[in-house]
Amino acid sequence: MRFENFTYKGNSLHCEKVDLHLISNLIGTPFYVYSKKSMIDRFKSFQKAFQDIPHRIYYAVKANSNINVIKLFTSLGAGLDVNSGGELFRAIKAGANPNDILFTGVGKTEEEILSGLDKNIFLFKVESFQELELLNYLAKKRNKIANIAIRVNPDVDPKTHPYITTGLYESKFGIAQELAIDAFKLAKSLSNLRILGIDMHIGSQITDVSAFKEAIVIMNDLILQLRSIGIEIEHFDVGGGLGVQYNDEPVPDVFDYANTIKEELKKSKCKIIFEPGRYLTADAGALITRALYTKNNRDKNFLIVDAAVNDLMRPALYNSYHHILPLNENDRNKIVYDIVGPACETGDFFARSREIKETKPGELIAIMSTGAYGFCMSSNYNSRRRVAEIMVDEDKFYVIRQRESFEDLIRNEKIIDQLFEK
Ligand SMILES: *Cc1c(COP(=O)(O)O)cnc(C)c1O
Repeated sequence: MRFENFTYKGNSLHCEKVDLHLISNLIGTPFYVYSKKSMIDRFKSFQKAFQDIPHRIYYAVKANSNINVIKLFTSLGAGLDVNSGGELFRAIKAGANPNDILFTGVGKTEEEILSGLDKNIFLFKVESFQELELLNYLAKKRNKIANIAIRVNPDVDPKTHPYITTGLYESKFGIAQELAIDAFKLAKSLSNLRILGIDMHIGSQITDVSAFKEAIVIMNDLILQLRSIGIEIEHFDVGGGLGVQYNDEPVPDVFDYANTIKEELKKSKCKIIFEPGRYLTADAGALITRALYTKNNRDKNFLIVDAAVNDLMRPALYNSYHHILPLNENDRNKIVYDIVGPACETGDFFARSREIKETKPGELIAIMSTGAYGFCMSSNYNSRRRVAEIMVDEDKFYVIRQRESFEDLIRNEKIIDQLFEK
């Protein structure tokens, strides 16, 4: 079964051993629900797939940044890959050891770099010549030596959605392959930087694992060149990006991924760093939403639900596919629906022309594989309160983020009387 931790018991969809109706009765809809077991299983499979090479997994916090999710992965032994001062703040709040944190990002601000230096994080992944200079300057100011890796753009096409392709020369990420050696030379000449590694991240939702191999071959060649000029590279960070199955497309699992790249990775003679995000969390999550209305316009049937594009952006942003399951299994006929939310945007849809069991107002559906890039991309558009997040642990569930209140919406706003005096 594809969603091993989302299964029907009786006729009711459960996450692990918890009936999802029970959660909705207690906290209302919509909400995200995550299976703790699913996240743990994925993490352990990843570790197992690479157990025979020296490696460490750094969970990419941006995929699902709830502090409980972060803490779950660190408790399993993961390090963390953070992408902003906000993610660094979350990581520390979740109790992470700063020495387990990598700081990624093409546009780190001075403030973000300083907070990383002050917290003594393990490593900065540098993405430009100017950032090398700035980091060195700030480290000197703080009287510290900053550990760095340089992110190189190997210019390979991972054949994924253009919005999540990051390793082509026209993408903004990393330093171009032909400038990489110069960047390392500059780094070596700077007094307050210590070079530890080399880094790549070619994109996300990659299902053709040969793209990883192609990139690793290019990077291995760079590592050799660097060693030949006396620049030692201890670790090779291959980024994240392993895809998951959203529909029924063929996708590699982590063992296929490992088998494809492991021999090349060994040749690097480096400790390998992985930064998976989606692979660890996507299938662990579902967005539970209630049908509000059905209607037909000519030959179209609409199913209008209480979640909207602000709660889950992926369909609007990437035209992504998500399986949709009824919370009550039944033997009704199937109907072709556009499943849409209440927001004032035509892009507010979860599925178009999708055949699912007839669904009546008041009934619940689950939008599957939404544990990654789901809640963390949500917004308050249309002044909708962000939804609750639930973590299920066997037969128990916990609210790991409360549904926002209306007061939360205006917490940082106040009426300025002077604006209305004249
Ligand atoms: C987004 C990102 C990741 C995680 O990508 P997934 O596709 O979720 O595995 C890892 N590393 C970097 C640098 C990223 O930007």
